[in-house]
Amino acid sequence: MTDRDTRHKKAMQKRKEIVDAKVAQADEERGIVIVITGNGKGKTTSAWGTVARSLGYGYKVHVTQFIKGGWDCGERDVFANDDNLSISTMGTGFTWETQNRQLDTEACQKVWQETIPKLQDPDIHLVVLDEVTYMLKYGYMEMEELMEALKNRPENQSVILTGRAAQKQLQEYADTVSEVQDVKHAFNNGIKARKGIDW
Ligand code: ATP
Ligand code: MG
Repeated sequence: MTDRDTRHKKAMQKRKEIVDAKVAQADEERGIVIVITGNGKGKTTSAWGTVARSLGYGYKVHVTQFIKGGWDCGERDVFANDDNLSISTMGTGFTWETQNRQLDTEACQKVWQETIPKLQDPDIHLVVLDEVTYMLKYGYMEMEELMEALKNRPENQSVILTGRAAQKQLQEYADTVSEVQDVKHAFNNGIKARKGIDW
């Protein structure tokens, strides 16, 4: 064994001890709340990646797409024939396109009311609230209502919330918070959003 191999073995042994200790410490079994926020690309695609994981094990999943609906997205169609997936989509496009607060509020409330029973259904393993932070920001739905639904959800249900600038209250309540940093984005360099990559 070279010096480097020996050092590597030692480092890995140490790493294993740390990981094993952490694994032994994590003994609570329950669904979690995940917030994926930040200005970088990867929030919605991360949520859909987790949807794929859950569906892969045969779990039931519900996805609520706030904002989207005026714009197609490929990931939704992959699972279109999976009976374990249900989707609520807002009928309007992006908020800066509709420019109508009253219509946006109605559209948001419609999908939110569809989502509430999903957050009460113990058979649903995962609920995704995609782009929900904007609904809260614009006041289309109430933070208190969302918090209550999250707190009263079935014990084994996990929820993923996405969107930029996730509210402090959400971040504090969540078990896992990831912030995707915008290091650079092709669009800002004049490259068009690409089908199958950006939507
Ligand atoms: P994705 O759906 O690709 O995971 P996202 O959910 O993190 O992206 P959103 O803020 O929801 O990002 O934006 C949706 C669209 O805007 C996507 O087409 C995405 O590629 C694009 N986008 C995301 N981040 C940026 C950015 N920093 N600059 C420009 N466009 C972005
Ligand atoms: Mg998104």
